Amino acid sequence: MSAVPTPPGAGRYAPSPSGDLHLGNLRTAILAWALARRTGRAFHLRVEDLDRVKEGSEQRQLEDLAALGLDWDGDVVRQSERGAAYDEAIARLETQGQVFECYCTRREILEAPSAPHAPPGAYPGTCRDLTPAAREQGRQRMRELRRAPALRLRTEVESWQVHDLWAGEVTGTVDDLVLRRGDGVVAYNLAVVVDDAAAGVDQVVRADDLLSSAPRQAHLAQLLGLPEPSYAHVPLAVNSVGARLAKRDGAVTLRDRLERGESVREVVGRIGDSLGLRGCRAAADVLERWDPAASPRHPWVVELPS
Ligand code: GLU
Repeated sequence: MSAVPTPPGAGRYAPSPSGDLHLGNLRTAILAWALARRTGRAFHLRVEDLDRVKEGSEQRQLEDLAALGLDWDGDVVRQSERGAAYDEAIARLETQGQVFECYCTRREILEAPSAPHAPPGAYPGTCRDLTPAAREQGRQRMRELRRAPALRLRTEVESWQVHDLWAGEVTGTVDDLVLRRGDGVVAYNLAVVVDDAAAGVDQVVRADDLLSSAPRQAHLAQLLGLPEPSYAHVPLAVNSVGARLAKRDGAVTLRDRLERGESVREVVGRIGDSLGLRGCRAAADVLERWDPAASPRHPWVVELPS
């Protein structure tokens, strides 16, 4: 009996076009690409342009990724063009009775007494079980405020477990997360889940500030009848005082480094060094030599000339 070959899945990199990618972002992109390619997967690029878009940023980001030697399969996907798929997913959850309207302002949520055992900032459940009359009042209030109610997931679980290549089994809280915001924009968690599944992405490699979002996203995938991907969350890049790397730290982007006279090879070399791989000159060297099992688990402290 011959084994049925499993079709190769895909990895992806999904930048938000809110400015140039910094060294930490570039490193994560290289690792996402390397892990996908090394495991025989396709690699996709998705522009997460639902929010905080900076004019011209997408083009610059794509140019920078190509300059490092990354390649991707198929067309670049833009979230701004995927509204119909998000509507469909929300409609499915609605049919399953898993969506409710929320009339709360951000402030009300922060000030409401939280449910027992809920982590700080978790939605306290205010609008989850309103009477029809209270719901009508909420809608009236939304009309006065000239905004739509937010749509939230009616969650039946308190937590969900995912597997991360480096962090192992991770259990995280799942609350009544937002699916569509009051301004009509679809929420990040829903968009990511719908887009990954549509592109056949079964391997999510991204920065570890999103590790705590993975349980919510995996649970959402399950509710939508979509496969849950595997995860590998890469430690963040930080500055010399341990804060997340940012523009104000100085020459943190590829273009900054080039302007200072460094070459693309040297920038890739730094990224390779941060992984314990000496002498990398192109992303292909990282692909060839990186051992994910031995990859550093601590943040990358980026040394920047003052
Ligand atoms: N767009 C997100 C970011 O730039 C990444 C989302 C994801 O990889 O799931 O931080």
